[in-house]
Amino acid sequence: MPTLAQFAASNVLVAFDFDGTLAPIAPTPAAARMRPLTRRLLTRVALSYPCVVISGRPLADLTRRLRNLPVWHVVGDHGSDTWDTIDAPAAHVREWVAELRTRLPHRTGLVIEPKRQTVTVHYRHVRDKRRVLAALADAVSHLRNARSIQGAEAINLLPRNGANKGIALEQARQVFACDTAIYVGDDDTDEDAFASAGPDRLLSIRIGPVRTSLAAYRLRAQADIDRLLTALIDLRADDPPQL
Ligand SMILES: [Mg+2]
Repeated sequence: MPTLAQFAASNVLVAFDFDGTLAPIAPTPAAARMRPLTRRLLTRVALSYPCVVISGRPLADLTRRLRNLPVWHVVGDHGSDTWDTIDAPAAHVREWVAELRTRLPHRTGLVIEPKRQTVTVHYRHVRDKRRVLAALADAVSHLRNARSIQGAEAINLLPRNGANKGIALEQARQVFACDTAIYVGDDDTDEDAFASAGPDRLLSIRIGPVRTSLAAYRLRAQADIDRLLTALIDLRADDPPQL
């Protein structure tokens, strides 16, 4: 299997998920931000490599969190929110949200977050998790054309046959005319990205303890992202492009 150094020496796109990858998981999605050191390291990585961030967050929200960073491209909503600036949820999202609100018990601490093409249901602050998660699983089973993917104390609902992080990664690699990619993510929505190319073209890294993953490499904890960013910077430090 090619090493990080071999990938860094190739015409490589470097791509990151945001929550749980560049930023620690926070008590609420609104509170998530990168450590100042991670910001500085990511800035240097983005000056040395084509660099993109692919997240489940709405694009406008994600862009705000990456303000003043020289990343090349930002993709929100699990790959479906890219150049388009219209924020309105699609018809299937409105239908899913209405169905969930009808079927789920009220005042449980569940937070339903509609985006353009996907819905995230956060359950971090639910007290009676067993009962509420059973109700949530039942409600989700009634949604038309929804694919449910586990997130960090959240369920992500994506349209079947719709965009995902794997398609977004492959598109970004092509747009920036890169031959290879490095992708780092921490949850099950990132598995689409890990599955998007073979190990000769994609170096895949999953953060955190997990039993099964398609990723070739692991980082033990989110804090380890700083070591990876440093390694990427060092691998191109003494190597100005030859013209
Ligand atoms: Mg994540």
